[in-house]
Amino acid sequence: MKETEKKESTGSQASANSLASSRRGLLRGLAAGGLVAGAGLSLGAGPATAASRRIARQSASWTPPNSPSQAEQELFVHGNDRWKMQAQLHPREYADTRTPLVAAQHPWAMIVSCIDSRVPPELIFDQGLGDLFVSRTAGQVLDGAVLGSTAYAATKSYVKLIVVLGHQGCGAVQSAIERKDNPGTPNFPPRLEFLTDRIKDAIPPAGTPNRENLAINENIRRIRNQLLQEPQISPRVAAGTLNVIGARYELDTWIAHKIN
Ligand SMILES: [Zn+2]
Repeated sequence: MKETEKKESTGSQASANSLASSRRGLLRGLAAGGLVAGAGLSLGAGPATAASRRIARQSASWTPPNSPSQAEQELFVHGNDRWKMQAQLHPREYADTRTPLVAAQHPWAMIVSCIDSRVPPELIFDQGLGDLFVSRTAGQVLDGAVLGSTAYAATKSYVKLIVVLGHQGCGAVQSAIERKDNPGTPNFPPRLEFLTDRIKDAIPPAGTPNRENLAINENIRRIRNQLLQEPQISPRVAAGTLNVIGARYELDTWIAHKIN
């Protein structure tokens, strides 16, 4: 996406939500994908034709990100921008991707995200098969299995970026706040307490303004910082071949952005 388009697309929620804006975004996305040429927008073009064109476009131009910064760019500038503008390409979903992936996969990023049904990483970053390792737990809480999964990803040189992805309105964080404020609640399920226990230290004191959002952000930071200390991860980060960042997805604006 061109720089001018990117600036315009980072505008207000109202503009992101307006039908006019969405249609402009769709047309831009189609133009960027070369789909506007010829009869691509005619009503007579059936699904098979559209799919064929999409495959041709993807195969011709796709090169996986080869550095942490390229991976970040692909997710947050290109992919999420398409999602935000409702101009998704749904890349790498078809036979020309599925068939070669039988033999091997080389995902270039890992997303450690929440289970929330409104925040599927492949959708909000508009990526396809073979692009992302994804680990999902409520509140993107870490346990031995998730740490093992990130360690595995970090041993693969083709993985350039690990993103800890939290989000607006996270039910796991809300539950942790509820639990912290009412520690005496009887019969709180131990399996849920496992989750809230791991989030509680990120929660500011009761009465803090914007408390839930601060807790969501701090939970992201703490998980990112923990991953940065993992023995399979920290040497690669020091060498510049892998990065671990925190990010947050906003349900109301459809924007994914970094949390520092
Ligand atoms: Zn959540």
